[in-house]
Amino acid sequence: MENVVIIGTGCAGLTAALYTARANLNPLVLTGVMPGGLLTTTSIVENFPGFPEGIDGYELMTRMQKQAERFGARIKFETLDAVDLSQNPIVLTVDGERVETKTLIIASGAGHRHLGFENEHLLEKKGVTFCATCDGALPMFRNQPVVVIGGGDSACEEAMYLTRFASVVYLVHRRDSLRASRIMAERTLANPKIKPIWNSVVTDILDVKQDIVTAVQLKNILSNEETVLECKGVFVAIGHIPNTQLFQGKVEMDDNGYVIRKNGSETSVKGVFVAGDCSDPVYRQAVTAAGMGCAAAIDCERFLAAETK
Ligand code: NAP
Repeated sequence: MENVVIIGTGCAGLTAALYTARANLNPLVLTGVMPGGLLTTTSIVENFPGFPEGIDGYELMTRMQKQAERFGARIKFETLDAVDLSQNPIVLTVDGERVETKTLIIASGAGHRHLGFENEHLLEKKGVTFCATCDGALPMFRNQPVVVIGGGDSACEEAMYLTRFASVVYLVHRRDSLRASRIMAERTLANPKIKPIWNSVVTDILDVKQDIVTAVQLKNILSNEETVLECKGVFVAIGHIPNTQLFQGKVEMDDNGYVIRKNGSETSVKGVFVAGDCSDPVYRQAVTAAGMGCAAAIDCERFLAAETK
C-alpha cells in the first residue's frame, strides 16, 4: 500500500514529490506521457525566481526531478489508466497494474487547446504544430513564412522564438490587443519580423490534397472579409485545457474541467489533493504550480498524520 501517489511531473507534481519525500512518505510519482510537463517544451524560463539569467525549461524540470529523487521520490515513467475514488484505500490502475494508496495528489497539468477543425488534425506534423520550441527549427520552416495563432504569453513566446528561423512570423489574433503580459506583448510587437494580423481568425488550413501546409484561410471578424495567407507552418497557441478527463464525475470540477480546490489543496474526496494547472484557471505560472505542489504535500502529510492518530 502506498502512502501517496502523485499524478504528474510538472512543477506541481515534482514539488509535491520533493516535499512528500522529505516528509518520509516515500511517494510514488507517475510521469504520464509527458515527463516534466509542458514547461519542458518552453525555451527560456525568465520568471522562475532564483535564475536571474533565465533557465531552459527542460533543464529546470530535470533539476526539480533530481532534487525530488535525492530525497527518495520514486519517479516512474508510467501512466494512470483508471482511478476508483469511491473506496478507501484509493485504487489506481497504472499501466494495467492495480495500485492501492492512502492518498492521491492530482497534478496532471494541462494540454494544448486545439482549434478543432478537421484540417488542423489532418495536417498535424505536416506544418501544423503546438510547440515552437519542439518543431520551430525543422528545415521545413527555415526562411519560410509561418503563422502563430493566439494573443497570450504562449503565442508571444512562440512568435519570438520562431523569428530565429522563419522569414516572417504572422501573429493572428481574434482581437485588436494582446492578452499577454505587458513585457511579452511589448517585446513581441517591437520585433520587426513579427507581423500582427488583428481581429482575425483562421477558418481553415490548406492544403490537405498536397498533404502539407501551404496557407491559412483568414477571416476578419469585423469586416467578414476572407483572405488566403501563404505560409509553411501554423503554430497554434490558443491556451490550454486541464488534463482531468480521468477524474470526470469522481472529483468536483468546474464547467471547464478544472478540479475545484477547497481549504488549501483539498478536493471533494477525502484524501485526494490537487495542485497546479489542472486546478488553476487563473494564474497558471510555473512558480504558482510549484507553490500549490508544496501546499498539497503539506496537506497530504497532515491528513496522513491525523488518520494514524
Ligand atoms: P491564454 O493566456 O489563455 O491565451 C490564449 C489566447 O488564445 C488568447 O489570446 C485567446 O484570445 C486566444 N484564443 C483562445 N481560444 C481561441 C480560439 N478558439 N481561436 C482563436 N484564438 C483563441 O493562454 P497562454 O498564452 O497559453 O497562457 C496560459 C498561461 O500561461 C497564462 O497565465 C500565461 O501568463 C502563462 N504563460 C506565461 C509565460 C511566461 O511568463 N513566459 C509563457 C507562456 C504562458 P482572447 O485574448 O481573445 O481570449
